[in-house]
Amino acid sequence: MSKQANKTDQYRRRFLSNAAAAATAAVVPGLMLFPVAEARSPTEAVSNKVRWGMLVDATKCVDGCNACVTACNNEHGLEGHNRPATDAQWIRLVHLKDKQTGKETKLPVMCQHCEHPPCVDVCPTGASFKRADGIVLVDRHICIGCRYCMMACPYKARSFVHETLTDQKPDSPRGKGTVEGCNLCVTRVDAGKLPACVEACQQEGEKALLFGDINDPDSMISKQAEKIASRQIREDLGLNTGVRYHGI
Ligand code: SF4
Ligand code: SF4
Repeated sequence: MSKQANKTDQYRRRFLSNAAAAATAAVVPGLMLFPVAEARSPTEAVSNKVRWGMLVDATKCVDGCNACVTACNNEHGLEGHNRPATDAQWIRLVHLKDKQTGKETKLPVMCQHCEHPPCVDVCPTGASFKRADGIVLVDRHICIGCRYCMMACPYKARSFVHETLTDQKPDSPRGKGTVEGCNLCVTRVDAGKLPACVEACQQEGEKALLFGDINDPDSMISKQAEKIASRQIREDLGLNTGVRYHGI
């Protein structure tokens, strides 16, 4: 097994063992996620030494807070285009209620940046692709708008641009007639910054979103993943998502 495959396997095992712990153990009281900027050096080439990921602590997601969604919309120019309410957003807040206990949970859901992305598998042109560092993207120049990827994504993480676009953000161009979704704020990450949603969460004084290199055992996200129980949404699909959740 290559060193890289071994690292990915270690990560998967850590998360799987944490997911098993989540099934049997109560949430540790007083648990904290420390939002530390662990973004990439702008001079570093994209490589599979790094795998960018996110750890979401749903127990820290505050009622009434919408900061991550607003930041994402602002960053990518998604506001002001009268998107129908039925359209997926790049990030959305999902509210869950356990019918047995009445316990309510709120969690942000965006593209999960799957290691084995079904959206990439079904794309007939190669427009859906995964970068070496794990970020899953759409190349709008070769997207033909067939929307196969939208049907294949189990997380409803992609949407189609129907409307004519105006006032686009230079750093995040979109395209009418193409599919789009969370790009993990790739331009920001490549510039050594945190994704907009993570930064906004920190600016609100919350600690619900942690971003970093999940291949690096010394990164804050990996250390936190070792400490707390976390799991994938629909882990039964075996997609080895780059986004993991605590408290769901
Ligand atoms: Fe593709 Fe959906 Fe996975 Fe994102 S969450 S990588 S869009 S299958
Ligand atoms: Fe939106 Fe960026 Fe957060 Fe993805 S990482 S949900 S694109 S703000």
